[in-house]
Amino acid sequence: MVWETIRKESAPRVTPNLTDYDRARSEFSWSRARAALAGLPGGGLNIAHEAVDRHAGSERGGRAALRCVGRDATVRTVTYAELAKRTARFANALRSLGAGHGDRVFTLLGRCPELYTAVLGTLKNTSVLCPLFSAFGPDPVAQRLRLGDARVLVTTAALYRRKVAELRAALPGLDHVIIVGPGAGDLPGTLSFDELMSRASDHFAIPATSPEDMALLHFTSGTTGAPKGAVHVHQAVLGHYATAAYALDLHPEDVYWCTADPGWVTGMSYGIIAPLVHGVTVVVDEGEYDAGRWYRILAEQHVSVWYTAPTALRMLMRATPRQGPHDLPASYDLSRLRFVASVGEPLNPEAVVWGHEVLGLPVHDNWWQTETGSIMIANFAACEIRPGSMGRPLPGVEASVLRCGDDGRALVTDGRVRVENRPGVEGELALRPDWPSMFRGYLHDKERYEAAFADGWYLTGDLVSRDADGWFWFVGRADDVIKSAGHLIGPFEVESALMEHRAVAEAGVIGRPDPVAGNIVKAFISLRPGVQPTPAIERDLLAFARRRLGPAVAPREIAFDQNLPKTRSGKVMRRLLRARELGLPTGDLSTLEGSA
Ligand code: AMP
Repeated sequence: MVWETIRKESAPRVTPNLTDYDRARSEFSWSRARAALAGLPGGGLNIAHEAVDRHAGSERGGRAALRCVGRDATVRTVTYAELAKRTARFANALRSLGAGHGDRVFTLLGRCPELYTAVLGTLKNTSVLCPLFSAFGPDPVAQRLRLGDARVLVTTAALYRRKVAELRAALPGLDHVIIVGPGAGDLPGTLSFDELMSRASDHFAIPATSPEDMALLHFTSGTTGAPKGAVHVHQAVLGHYATAAYALDLHPEDVYWCTADPGWVTGMSYGIIAPLVHGVTVVVDEGEYDAGRWYRILAEQHVSVWYTAPTALRMLMRATPRQGPHDLPASYDLSRLRFVASVGEPLNPEAVVWGHEVLGLPVHDNWWQTETGSIMIANFAACEIRPGSMGRPLPGVEASVLRCGDDGRALVTDGRVRVENRPGVEGELALRPDWPSMFRGYLHDKERYEAAFADGWYLTGDLVSRDADGWFWFVGRADDVIKSAGHLIGPFEVESALMEHRAVAEAGVIGRPDPVAGNIVKAFISLRPGVQPTPAIERDLLAFARRRLGPAVAPREIAFDQNLPKTRSGKVMRRLLRARELGLPTGDLSTLEGSA
Protein backbone atom coordinates (compact mmCIF):
# COMPACT_ATOMS: atom_id res chain seq x y z
CA MET A 1 0.00 0.00 0.00
CA VAL A 2 1.21 3.50 -0.81
CA TRP A 3 0.82 5.86 2.12
CA GLU A 4 -0.10 9.42 1.57
CA THR A 5 2.21 12.18 2.65
CA ILE A 6 1.00 13.82 5.86
CA ARG A 7 1.08 17.57 5.35
CA LYS A 8 1.00 19.95 8.28
CA GLU A 9 -1.77 22.28 7.21
CA SER A 10 -2.99 23.66 10.50
CA ALA A 11 -0.68 26.08 12.29
CA PRO A 12 1.32 24.37 15.04
CA ARG A 13 0.56 25.38 18.63
CA VAL A 14 4.16 26.45 19.12
CA THR A 15 6.37 27.87 16.38
CA PRO A 16 8.83 25.06 15.59
CA ASN A 17 12.54 25.64 16.14
CA LEU A 18 13.07 24.64 12.53
CA THR A 19 10.58 26.29 10.21
CA ASP A 20 12.40 26.18 6.87
CA TYR A 21 14.47 23.04 6.33
CA ASP A 22 16.70 24.30 3.52
CA ARG A 23 17.39 27.59 5.22
CA ALA A 24 18.16 25.93 8.55
CA ARG A 25 20.66 23.64 6.83
CA SER A 26 22.37 26.39 4.88
CA GLU A 27 22.61 28.75 7.86
CA PHE A 28 23.67 26.17 10.44
CA SER A 29 27.17 25.80 11.83
CA TRP A 30 28.27 23.84 14.90
CA SER A 31 30.41 26.72 16.09
CA ARG A 32 27.41 29.07 16.05
CA ALA A 33 25.27 26.45 17.81
CA ARG A 34 27.86 26.37 20.61
CA ALA A 35 26.75 29.85 21.67
CA ALA A 36 23.62 28.35 23.26
CA LEU A 37 25.73 26.49 25.82
CA ALA A 38 27.20 28.17 28.90
CA GLY A 39 30.59 26.51 29.26
CA LEU A 40 32.29 26.13 32.64
CA PRO A 41 32.95 29.41 34.47
CA GLY A 42 36.71 28.89 34.12
CA GLY A 43 36.47 27.67 30.50
CA GLY A 44 35.93 24.14 29.24
CA LEU A 45 32.72 22.19 28.83
CA ASN A 46 31.05 19.71 31.17
CA ILE A 47 27.76 17.97 30.41
CA ALA A 48 26.55 18.16 34.04
CA HIS A 49 27.16 21.89 34.23
CA GLU A 50 25.07 22.43 31.09
CA ALA A 51 22.34 20.04 32.25
CA VAL A 52 22.05 21.06 35.90
CA ASP A 53 24.23 23.68 37.51
CA ARG A 54 23.66 26.53 35.12
CA HIS A 55 19.87 26.18 35.53
CA ALA A 56 20.15 25.74 39.28
CA GLY A 57 21.79 29.12 39.57
CA SER A 58 19.22 30.82 37.33
CA GLU A 59 15.52 31.60 37.58
CA ARG A 60 14.89 27.98 36.47
CA GLY A 61 16.36 26.66 39.75
CA GLY A 62 12.92 26.11 41.30
CA ARG A 63 11.51 24.39 38.25
CA ALA A 64 10.91 20.64 38.27
CA ALA A 65 13.82 18.93 36.53
CA LEU A 66 12.51 15.41 37.16
CA ARG A 67 9.02 14.18 37.84
CA CYS A 68 9.40 10.53 38.80
CA VAL A 69 6.19 8.51 38.63
CA GLY A 70 6.58 5.52 40.97
CA ARG A 71 5.18 2.06 40.32
CA ASP A 72 2.37 2.93 42.73
CA ALA A 73 1.77 6.19 40.80
CA THR A 74 3.14 8.45 43.56
CA VAL A 75 5.10 11.31 42.04
CA ARG A 76 8.44 12.54 43.39
CA THR A 77 9.60 15.89 42.04
CA VAL A 78 13.21 17.03 41.98
CA THR A 79 13.90 20.67 41.08
CA TYR A 80 16.98 21.82 39.21
CA ALA A 81 18.33 23.38 42.43
CA GLU A 82 17.84 20.09 44.32
CA LEU A 83 19.38 18.10 41.50
CA ALA A 84 22.43 20.37 41.62
CA LYS A 85 22.86 19.60 45.33
CA ARG A 86 22.28 15.88 45.00
CA THR A 87 24.71 15.54 42.11
CA ALA A 88 27.27 17.60 44.04
CA ARG A 89 26.92 15.18 46.95
CA PHE A 90 27.41 12.20 44.68
CA ALA A 91 30.47 13.79 43.04
CA ASN A 92 31.91 14.40 46.53
CA ALA A 93 31.09 10.83 47.54
CA LEU A 94 33.02 9.52 44.53
CA ARG A 95 35.90 11.79 45.40
CA SER A 96 35.91 10.49 48.98
CA LEU A 97 36.31 6.99 47.56
CA GLY A 98 39.30 8.09 45.51
CA ALA A 99 37.40 7.81 42.20
CA GLY A 100 38.25 10.70 39.92
CA HIS A 101 38.95 11.89 36.41
CA GLY A 102 38.47 9.17 33.80
CA ASP A 103 37.55 6.44 36.31
CA ARG A 104 34.69 4.32 35.07
CA VAL A 105 31.46 4.43 37.10
CA PHE A 106 28.81 1.93 36.02
CA THR A 107 25.11 2.08 36.86
CA LEU A 108 22.88 -0.99 36.97
CA LEU A 109 19.60 0.52 38.13
CA GLY A 110 15.98 0.89 37.22
CA ARG A 111 14.65 4.36 36.40
CA CYS A 112 14.79 5.72 39.97
CA PRO A 113 15.79 9.28 40.99
CA GLU A 114 19.14 7.95 42.30
CA LEU A 115 20.07 6.89 38.77
CA TYR A 116 19.87 10.51 37.60
CA THR A 117 21.91 11.65 40.60
CA ALA A 118 24.59 9.04 39.92
CA VAL A 119 24.81 9.79 36.19
CA LEU A 120 25.13 13.54 36.56
CA GLY A 121 27.26 13.38 39.71
CA THR A 122 29.70 11.11 37.88
CA LEU A 123 29.95 13.59 35.02
CA LYS A 124 30.50 16.44 37.49
CA ASN A 125 33.40 14.51 38.96
CA THR A 126 34.82 14.07 35.41
CA SER A 127 34.58 10.33 35.88
CA VAL A 128 33.15 8.31 32.98
CA LEU A 129 29.60 7.01 33.19
CA CYS A 130 28.67 3.65 31.70
CA PRO A 131 24.99 2.68 32.02
CA LEU A 132 23.93 -0.97 32.03
CA PHE A 133 20.40 -2.10 31.25
CA SER A 134 18.88 -3.57 34.41
CA ALA A 135 17.23 -6.41 32.43
CA PHE A 136 20.63 -7.75 31.38
CA GLY A 137 21.54 -11.09 32.92
CA PRO A 138 24.82 -11.77 34.78
CA ASP A 139 26.80 -12.62 31.62
CA PRO A 140 26.30 -9.34 29.73
CA VAL A 141 26.75 -7.41 33.00
CA ALA A 142 30.05 -9.10 33.90
CA GLN A 143 31.41 -8.85 30.38
CA ARG A 144 30.73 -5.12 30.17
CA LEU A 145 32.11 -4.43 33.66
CA ARG A 146 35.29 -6.22 32.63
CA LEU A 147 35.65 -4.70 29.16
CA GLY A 148 34.88 -1.21 30.45
CA ASP A 149 37.38 -1.34 33.37
CA ALA A 150 34.68 -0.67 35.97
CA ARG A 151 35.98 0.87 39.22
CA VAL A 152 32.65 1.78 40.76
CA LEU A 153 29.24 0.16 40.35
CA VAL A 154 25.99 1.74 41.55
CA THR A 155 23.18 -0.78 41.82
CA THR A 156 20.54 -2.19 44.17
CA ALA A 157 20.88 -5.06 46.64
CA ALA A 158 18.59 -7.30 44.60
CA LEU A 159 20.37 -6.64 41.29
CA TYR A 160 23.77 -7.06 42.95
CA ARG A 161 22.80 -10.38 44.50
CA ARG A 162 21.32 -11.75 41.27
CA LYS A 163 23.81 -10.43 38.74
CA VAL A 164 27.14 -9.44 40.25
CA ALA A 165 27.93 -10.98 43.66
CA GLU A 166 29.03 -14.36 42.31
CA LEU A 167 31.32 -12.81 39.73
CA ARG A 168 32.81 -10.16 41.97
CA ALA A 169 36.00 -12.12 42.63
CA ALA A 170 36.66 -12.16 38.88
CA LEU A 171 36.44 -8.36 38.75
CA PRO A 172 39.50 -7.25 40.74
CA GLY A 173 39.35 -3.71 39.31
CA LEU A 174 35.86 -3.15 40.73
CA ASP A 175 36.86 -1.32 43.92
CA HIS A 176 33.50 -0.02 45.11
CA VAL A 177 29.92 -1.19 44.88
CA ILE A 178 27.37 1.37 46.02
CA ILE A 179 23.94 0.03 46.96
CA VAL A 180 20.87 2.21 46.39
CA GLY A 181 18.05 1.52 48.85
CA PRO A 182 18.26 -0.91 51.77
CA GLY A 183 20.56 -3.92 51.99
CA ALA A 184 24.13 -2.63 51.87
CA GLY A 185 24.68 -3.73 55.47
CA ASP A 186 23.97 -7.38 54.58
CA LEU A 187 26.23 -7.49 51.54
CA PRO A 188 29.94 -7.75 52.20
CA GLY A 189 32.09 -5.43 50.13
CA THR A 190 29.38 -2.86 49.44
CA LEU A 191 28.61 0.69 50.56
CA SER A 192 25.31 2.41 51.17
CA PHE A 193 24.34 5.15 48.69
CA ASP A 194 22.32 6.97 51.36
CA GLU A 195 25.14 6.91 53.89
CA LEU A 196 27.69 8.17 51.39
CA MET A 197 25.33 10.92 50.33
CA SER A 198 24.52 12.00 53.88
CA ARG A 199 28.21 12.38 54.71
CA ALA A 200 29.01 14.36 51.54
CA SER A 201 28.84 18.12 51.08
CA ASP A 202 26.32 19.54 48.63
CA HIS A 203 28.89 21.98 47.25
CA PHE A 204 31.11 20.80 44.45
CA ALA A 205 33.11 22.88 42.00
CA ILE A 206 33.34 21.01 38.73
CA PRO A 207 37.03 20.57 37.90
CA ALA A 208 38.46 21.76 34.60
CA THR A 209 36.89 19.65 31.86
CA SER A 210 38.08 19.61 28.29
CA PRO A 211 35.37 19.16 25.63
CA GLU A 212 37.39 16.15 24.48
CA ASP A 213 37.45 14.46 27.90
CA MET A 214 35.73 11.08 27.88
CA ALA A 215 32.29 11.34 29.48
CA LEU A 216 30.18 8.34 28.51
CA LEU A 217 30.80 4.76 27.55
CA HIS A 218 27.96 2.98 25.74
CA PHE A 219 28.25 -0.67 24.87
CA THR A 220 26.82 -1.76 21.55
CA SER A 221 26.92 -5.01 19.62
CA GLY A 222 28.50 -6.13 16.40
CA THR A 223 28.08 -9.28 14.35
CA THR A 224 31.06 -11.02 15.91
CA GLY A 225 33.25 -10.71 18.96
CA ALA A 226 32.69 -8.98 22.27
CA PRO A 227 30.41 -5.94 22.70
CA LYS A 228 32.03 -2.67 21.65
CA GLY A 229 32.38 0.21 24.09
CA ALA A 230 31.62 3.40 22.15
CA VAL A 231 33.46 6.34 23.73
CA HIS A 232 31.71 9.72 23.91
CA VAL A 233 33.14 12.99 25.16
CA HIS A 234 31.75 16.08 26.96
CA GLN A 235 31.59 17.91 23.62
CA ALA A 236 28.70 15.56 22.73
CA VAL A 237 26.40 17.80 24.74
CA LEU A 238 26.37 20.26 21.85
CA GLY A 239 25.01 17.55 19.57
CA HIS A 240 22.41 16.53 22.14
CA TYR A 241 21.26 20.10 22.60
CA ALA A 242 21.05 21.13 18.95
CA THR A 243 19.39 17.94 17.73
CA ALA A 244 16.81 18.00 20.52
CA ALA A 245 15.94 21.54 19.42
CA TYR A 246 15.47 20.49 15.78
CA ALA A 247 14.30 16.87 15.82
CA LEU A 248 12.30 16.88 19.08
CA ASP A 249 11.35 20.54 18.85
CA LEU A 250 12.01 21.08 22.57
CA HIS A 251 11.01 24.47 23.96
CA PRO A 252 11.82 25.71 27.48
CA GLU A 253 8.29 25.25 28.85
CA ASP A 254 7.88 21.67 27.67
CA VAL A 255 7.09 18.67 29.81
CA TYR A 256 8.94 15.89 28.10
CA TRP A 257 8.81 12.11 28.34
CA CYS A 258 11.33 9.78 26.72
CA THR A 259 10.26 6.19 27.30
CA ALA A 260 13.69 4.67 26.52
CA ASP A 261 15.59 3.20 29.47
CA PRO A 262 18.82 5.10 30.29
CA GLY A 263 20.62 1.74 30.13
CA TRP A 264 20.62 2.36 26.36
CA VAL A 265 21.94 5.32 24.44
CA THR A 266 18.55 6.91 23.68
CA GLY A 267 17.58 6.95 27.34
CA MET A 268 20.88 8.62 28.20
CA SER A 269 21.23 11.20 25.39
CA TYR A 270 17.54 12.09 25.12
CA GLY A 271 16.13 10.78 28.41
CA ILE A 272 18.60 12.67 30.60
CA ILE A 273 21.10 14.97 28.92
CA ALA A 274 19.33 16.77 26.06
CA PRO A 275 16.09 17.66 27.90
CA LEU A 276 17.91 18.85 31.03
CA VAL A 277 20.26 21.00 28.95
CA HIS A 278 17.09 22.56 27.51
CA GLY A 279 15.85 23.14 31.06
CA VAL A 280 12.54 21.35 30.55
CA THR A 281 10.70 19.08 32.99
CA VAL A 282 11.53 15.42 32.41
CA VAL A 283 8.95 12.78 33.25
CA VAL A 284 10.47 9.52 34.49
CA ASP A 285 8.35 6.39 34.64
CA GLU A 286 9.68 3.96 37.23
CA GLY A 287 7.17 1.29 36.13
CA GLU A 288 6.92 -0.91 33.09
CA TYR A 289 4.82 -0.57 29.94
CA ASP A 290 1.09 -0.78 30.32
CA ALA A 291 -1.23 0.95 27.85
CA GLY A 292 -3.52 2.47 30.50
CA ARG A 293 -0.58 3.56 32.64
CA TRP A 294 1.10 5.23 29.70
CA TYR A 295 -1.99 7.18 28.62
CA ARG A 296 -2.49 8.19 32.24
CA ILE A 297 1.07 9.50 32.48
CA LEU A 298 0.70 11.45 29.22
CA ALA A 299 -2.50 13.01 30.51
CA GLU A 300 -1.77 13.55 34.21
CA GLN A 301 1.76 14.81 33.75
CA HIS A 302 0.68 17.14 30.92
CA VAL A 303 3.34 15.73 28.63
CA SER A 304 3.85 18.02 25.63
CA VAL A 305 6.69 16.25 23.81
CA TRP A 306 6.89 12.47 23.74
CA TYR A 307 9.82 10.44 22.41
CA THR A 308 9.13 6.73 22.21
CA ALA A 309 9.83 3.57 20.21
CA PRO A 310 8.03 1.78 17.38
CA THR A 311 7.55 -1.41 19.44
CA ALA A 312 5.84 0.61 22.17
CA LEU A 313 3.63 2.33 19.59
CA ARG A 314 2.70 -1.01 18.06
CA MET A 315 1.75 -2.29 21.53
CA LEU A 316 -0.44 0.78 22.03
CA MET A 317 -1.96 0.25 18.58
CA ARG A 318 -2.96 -3.26 19.63
CA ALA A 319 -4.51 -1.95 22.82
CA THR A 320 -6.30 0.89 21.00
CA PRO A 321 -6.87 0.05 17.32
CA ARG A 322 -7.80 2.68 14.77
CA GLN A 323 -11.07 1.05 13.79
CA GLY A 324 -11.92 0.25 17.40
CA PRO A 325 -13.77 2.34 19.95
CA HIS A 326 -10.55 4.26 20.83
CA ASP A 327 -11.56 3.89 24.43
CA LEU A 328 -8.26 4.49 26.11
CA PRO A 329 -7.02 7.73 24.54
CA ALA A 330 -10.56 9.13 24.54
CA SER A 331 -10.81 8.69 28.29
CA TYR A 332 -7.66 10.71 28.92
CA ASP A 333 -7.06 14.35 28.18
CA LEU A 334 -4.09 14.33 25.81
CA SER A 335 -4.63 17.92 24.73
CA ARG A 336 -1.22 19.07 26.04
CA LEU A 337 0.61 16.67 23.74
CA ARG A 338 1.95 18.59 20.76
CA PHE A 339 4.82 16.54 19.31
CA VAL A 340 5.49 12.79 19.09
CA ALA A 341 8.69 11.20 17.81
CA SER A 342 10.11 7.71 17.72
CA VAL A 343 13.42 6.00 17.12
CA GLY A 344 15.37 2.78 17.26
CA GLU A 345 13.80 0.53 14.65
CA PRO A 346 11.74 0.89 11.50
CA LEU A 347 8.51 2.78 12.15
CA ASN A 348 5.84 1.21 10.00
CA PRO A 349 3.60 3.69 8.12
CA GLU A 350 0.53 2.31 9.91
CA ALA A 351 1.97 3.58 13.21
CA VAL A 352 2.52 7.07 11.80
CA VAL A 353 -1.06 7.17 10.56
CA TRP A 354 -2.41 5.61 13.78
CA GLY A 355 -0.82 8.47 15.72
CA HIS A 356 -2.41 10.97 13.36
CA GLU A 357 -5.88 9.47 13.80
CA VAL A 358 -5.89 8.26 17.41
CA LEU A 359 -3.57 10.71 19.19
CA GLY A 360 -4.35 13.53 16.78
CA LEU A 361 -0.61 13.83 16.03
CA PRO A 362 1.50 11.95 13.48
CA VAL A 363 4.60 10.18 14.73
CA HIS A 364 7.90 11.71 13.61
CA ASP A 365 10.42 8.96 12.97
CA ASN A 366 14.11 9.68 13.38
CA TRP A 367 17.32 7.72 12.97
CA TRP A 368 20.62 7.47 14.78
CA GLN A 369 22.78 4.91 16.54
CA THR A 370 25.04 4.46 19.57
CA GLU A 371 28.10 5.55 17.62
CA THR A 372 26.59 8.77 16.25
CA GLY A 373 25.62 9.85 19.78
CA SER A 374 22.76 12.05 18.57
CA ILE A 375 19.93 12.11 16.04
CA MET A 376 21.21 12.27 12.45
CA ILE A 377 18.10 11.97 10.27
CA ALA A 378 14.62 13.10 11.24
CA ASN A 379 11.12 14.16 10.33
CA PHE A 380 10.71 17.72 11.57
CA ALA A 381 7.75 19.41 13.24
CA ALA A 382 7.34 21.95 10.44
CA CYS A 383 7.77 19.55 7.54
CA GLU A 384 5.53 17.06 5.79
CA ILE A 385 5.90 13.41 6.77
CA ARG A 386 6.30 10.64 4.25
CA PRO A 387 5.11 7.65 6.30
CA GLY A 388 7.78 4.94 6.30
CA SER A 389 10.65 7.37 5.76
CA MET A 390 13.17 8.26 8.48
CA GLY A 391 13.21 11.83 7.17
CA ARG A 392 16.10 14.03 6.14
CA PRO A 393 19.56 14.77 7.63
CA LEU A 394 19.73 17.33 10.41
CA PRO A 395 21.37 20.71 9.93
CA GLY A 396 25.10 20.08 10.37
CA VAL A 397 24.86 16.46 9.19
CA GLU A 398 25.91 15.20 5.76
CA ALA A 399 24.50 11.79 4.84
CA SER A 400 24.91 9.72 1.68
CA VAL A 401 24.05 6.36 0.22
CA LEU A 402 27.15 4.40 -0.81
CA ARG A 403 27.14 1.77 -3.54
CA CYS A 404 27.48 -1.74 -2.08
CA GLY A 405 29.59 -4.72 -3.14
CA ASP A 406 28.67 -8.40 -3.14
CA ASP A 407 29.05 -8.65 0.64
CA GLY A 408 26.25 -6.12 1.07
CA ARG A 409 28.57 -3.47 2.55
CA ALA A 410 29.85 -0.24 0.95
CA LEU A 411 32.17 -1.04 -1.92
CA VAL A 412 35.66 0.33 -1.20
CA THR A 413 38.06 0.24 -4.14
CA ASP A 414 41.60 1.52 -3.60
CA GLY A 415 40.38 3.34 -0.54
CA ARG A 416 37.58 5.11 -2.45
CA VAL A 417 33.83 4.69 -2.09
CA ARG A 418 31.12 5.57 -4.61
CA VAL A 419 28.25 7.79 -3.62
CA GLU A 420 25.02 6.45 -5.10
CA ASN A 421 23.08 9.39 -6.49
CA ARG A 422 20.26 7.57 -8.23
CA PRO A 423 16.98 7.85 -6.28
CA GLY A 424 15.58 4.62 -4.92
CA VAL A 425 18.81 2.62 -5.23
CA GLU A 426 19.81 0.76 -2.07
CA GLY A 427 23.22 1.19 -0.52
CA GLU A 428 24.97 1.64 2.82
CA LEU A 429 24.15 4.77 4.79
CA ALA A 430 27.29 6.81 5.40
CA LEU A 431 27.87 10.04 7.33
CA ARG A 432 30.66 12.62 7.18
CA PRO A 433 32.04 12.52 10.73
CA ASP A 434 31.87 16.19 11.55
CA TRP A 435 29.38 16.57 14.40
CA PRO A 436 30.25 16.93 18.10
CA SER A 437 28.59 13.82 19.52
CA MET A 438 30.31 11.39 17.14
CA PHE A 439 31.99 8.56 19.08
CA ARG A 440 35.75 8.92 19.48
CA GLY A 441 36.63 5.24 19.49
CA TYR A 442 35.73 1.76 20.64
CA LEU A 443 37.42 1.29 24.00
CA HIS A 444 40.63 -0.78 23.63
CA ASP A 445 39.73 -1.65 20.03
CA LYS A 446 41.39 0.64 17.51
CA GLU A 447 41.09 -1.86 14.70
CA ARG A 448 37.31 -2.14 14.88
CA TYR A 449 37.05 1.64 15.11
CA GLU A 450 39.19 2.19 12.03
CA ALA A 451 37.23 -0.44 10.12
CA ALA A 452 34.12 1.72 10.54
CA PHE A 453 35.50 4.44 8.23
CA ALA A 454 36.37 4.65 4.54
CA ASP A 455 37.28 7.55 2.31
CA GLY A 456 36.29 10.15 4.90
CA TRP A 457 32.89 8.56 5.61
CA TYR A 458 31.60 6.77 8.68
CA LEU A 459 29.89 3.56 7.56
CA THR A 460 26.76 2.92 9.60
CA GLY A 461 26.09 -0.73 8.70
CA ASP A 462 22.51 0.19 7.70
CA LEU A 463 21.10 -0.25 4.21
CA VAL A 464 18.92 2.59 2.99
CA SER A 465 17.72 4.33 -0.14
CA ARG A 466 17.07 8.00 -0.77
CA ASP A 467 14.23 9.39 -2.85
CA ALA A 468 14.50 12.18 -5.40
CA ASP A 469 13.72 14.83 -2.76
CA GLY A 470 16.33 13.67 -0.27
CA TRP A 471 14.16 11.62 2.14
CA PHE A 472 15.90 8.52 3.50
CA TRP A 473 14.18 5.13 3.65
CA PHE A 474 15.44 2.31 5.85
CA VAL A 475 15.94 -1.05 4.14
CA GLY A 476 17.67 -3.26 6.73
CA ARG A 477 20.93 -4.00 8.48
CA ALA A 478 23.95 -4.91 6.37
CA ASP A 479 25.18 -7.25 9.10
CA ASP A 480 23.67 -9.85 11.44
CA VAL A 481 22.88 -7.75 14.51
CA ILE A 482 19.30 -8.08 15.72
CA LYS A 483 16.91 -5.30 16.72
CA SER A 484 14.32 -6.71 19.07
CA ALA A 485 11.87 -4.39 20.82
CA GLY A 486 14.27 -1.56 19.97
CA HIS A 487 17.26 -3.23 21.67
CA LEU A 488 20.35 -4.05 19.63
CA ILE A 489 21.45 -7.63 20.26
CA GLY A 490 24.69 -9.23 19.10
CA PRO A 491 24.06 -12.81 17.88
CA PHE A 492 27.56 -13.80 18.95
CA GLU A 493 26.85 -12.94 22.59
CA VAL A 494 23.74 -15.16 22.53
CA GLU A 495 25.50 -18.00 20.71
CA SER A 496 28.41 -17.90 23.18
CA ALA A 497 26.05 -18.23 26.16
CA LEU A 498 24.15 -21.12 24.55
CA MET A 499 27.39 -22.93 23.76
CA GLU A 500 28.08 -23.11 27.47
CA HIS A 501 25.12 -25.42 27.97
CA ARG A 502 26.32 -29.03 28.22
CA ALA A 503 23.85 -30.22 25.54
CA VAL A 504 24.86 -27.73 22.84
CA ALA A 505 27.40 -28.53 20.14
CA GLU A 506 26.82 -25.47 17.96
CA ALA A 507 24.48 -22.50 17.76
CA GLY A 508 23.44 -19.93 15.15
CA VAL A 509 21.26 -16.99 16.18
CA ILE A 510 19.11 -14.76 13.96
CA GLY A 511 16.27 -12.26 14.23
CA ARG A 512 12.90 -13.63 13.15
CA PRO A 513 10.48 -10.91 12.06
CA ASP A 514 7.70 -10.23 14.56
CA PRO A 515 4.72 -7.92 14.04
CA VAL A 516 5.15 -6.15 17.39
CA ALA A 517 8.82 -6.44 18.50
CA GLY A 518 10.23 -5.99 14.99
CA ASN A 519 12.28 -9.15 15.47
CA ILE A 520 12.56 -11.83 18.09
CA VAL A 521 15.76 -13.71 18.83
CA LYS A 522 15.68 -17.24 17.43
CA ALA A 523 18.44 -19.80 18.02
CA PHE A 524 19.22 -22.80 15.83
CA ILE A 525 21.03 -25.44 17.79
CA SER A 526 22.82 -28.65 17.02
CA LEU A 527 22.99 -30.96 20.01
CA ARG A 528 25.92 -32.98 21.28
CA PRO A 529 25.92 -36.67 20.31
CA GLY A 530 23.51 -38.68 22.40
CA VAL A 531 21.29 -35.69 23.36
CA GLN A 532 17.77 -35.91 21.97
CA PRO A 533 15.84 -32.78 20.83
CA THR A 534 12.97 -33.11 23.31
CA PRO A 535 10.57 -30.42 24.59
CA ALA A 536 12.29 -30.79 27.98
CA ILE A 537 15.72 -29.91 26.59
CA GLU A 538 14.18 -27.00 24.69
CA ARG A 539 12.64 -25.64 27.90
CA ASP A 540 15.89 -26.16 29.75
CA LEU A 541 17.86 -24.28 27.09
CA LEU A 542 15.43 -21.35 27.03
CA ALA A 543 15.57 -21.08 30.82
CA PHE A 544 19.37 -21.41 30.85
CA ALA A 545 19.75 -18.60 28.30
CA ARG A 546 17.30 -16.40 30.16
CA ARG A 547 19.15 -16.88 33.43
CA ARG A 548 22.52 -16.08 31.87
CA LEU A 549 21.56 -13.33 29.42
CA GLY A 550 18.41 -11.83 30.91
CA PRO A 551 15.01 -11.47 29.24
CA ALA A 552 16.03 -8.60 26.93
CA VAL A 553 18.69 -10.66 25.15
CA ALA A 554 17.81 -14.36 25.52
CA PRO A 555 16.26 -16.26 22.58
CA ARG A 556 12.50 -16.61 22.58
CA GLU A 557 12.52 -19.53 20.16
CA ILE A 558 14.76 -22.51 19.62
CA ALA A 559 14.92 -24.88 16.66
CA PHE A 560 17.09 -28.00 16.55
CA ASP A 561 19.14 -28.72 13.46
CA GLN A 562 21.94 -31.28 13.41
CA ASN A 563 23.22 -29.90 10.07
CA LEU A 564 23.67 -26.20 10.64
CA PRO A 565 24.91 -24.57 7.43
CA LYS A 566 28.56 -23.54 7.80
CA THR A 567 31.22 -21.83 5.79
CA ARG A 568 34.31 -23.82 4.81
CA SER A 569 36.10 -22.15 7.69
CA GLY A 570 33.50 -23.63 10.04
CA LYS A 571 31.38 -20.54 10.90
CA VAL A 572 27.62 -20.98 11.13
CA MET A 573 26.03 -19.10 8.20
CA ARG A 574 23.39 -16.96 9.88
CA ARG A 575 22.50 -15.38 6.54
CA LEU A 576 21.43 -18.76 5.23
CA LEU A 577 19.52 -19.64 8.41
CA ARG A 578 17.64 -16.39 8.05
CA ALA A 579 16.92 -16.88 4.36
CA ARG A 580 15.59 -20.39 5.03
CA GLU A 581 13.49 -19.16 7.94
CA LEU A 582 11.93 -16.43 5.80
CA GLY A 583 11.65 -18.52 2.63
CA LEU A 584 13.93 -16.06 0.80
CA PRO A 585 16.39 -16.87 -1.97
CA THR A 586 19.55 -18.27 -0.38
CA GLY A 587 21.91 -16.19 -2.57
CA ASP A 588 25.54 -17.04 -3.15
CA LEU A 589 26.38 -20.36 -1.50
CA SER A 590 29.92 -20.71 -2.86
CA THR A 591 31.42 -20.45 0.64
CA LEU A 592 29.10 -23.10 2.07
CA GLU A 593 30.88 -26.09 3.60
CA GLY A 594 30.63 -29.04 1.24
CA SER A 595 29.96 -26.88 -1.84
CA ALA A 596 32.12 -27.67 -4.87
P1 AMP B 1 21.56 1.47 18.66
O1 AMP B 1 22.99 1.72 18.38
O2 AMP B 1 21.31 0.38 19.65
O3 AMP B 1 20.83 2.73 18.99
O4 AMP B 1 20.93 0.92 17.31
C1 AMP B 1 21.10 1.64 16.12
C2 AMP B 1 20.44 0.91 14.99
O5 AMP B 1 19.02 0.91 15.17
C3 AMP B 1 20.64 1.59 13.65
O6 AMP B 1 21.89 1.30 13.09
C4 AMP B 1 19.47 1.02 12.87
O7 AMP B 1 19.75 -0.27 12.40
C5 AMP B 1 18.37 0.95 13.93
N1 AMP B 1 17.54 2.17 13.87
C6 AMP B 1 17.62 3.27 14.63
N2 AMP B 1 16.67 4.16 14.28
C7 AMP B 1 15.99 3.63 13.26
C8 AMP B 1 14.90 4.07 12.45
N3 AMP B 1 14.31 5.23 12.65
N4 AMP B 1 14.48 3.24 11.46
C9 AMP B 1 15.06 2.04 11.26
N5 AMP B 1 16.09 1.58 12.00
C10 AMP B 1 16.55 2.36 12.99
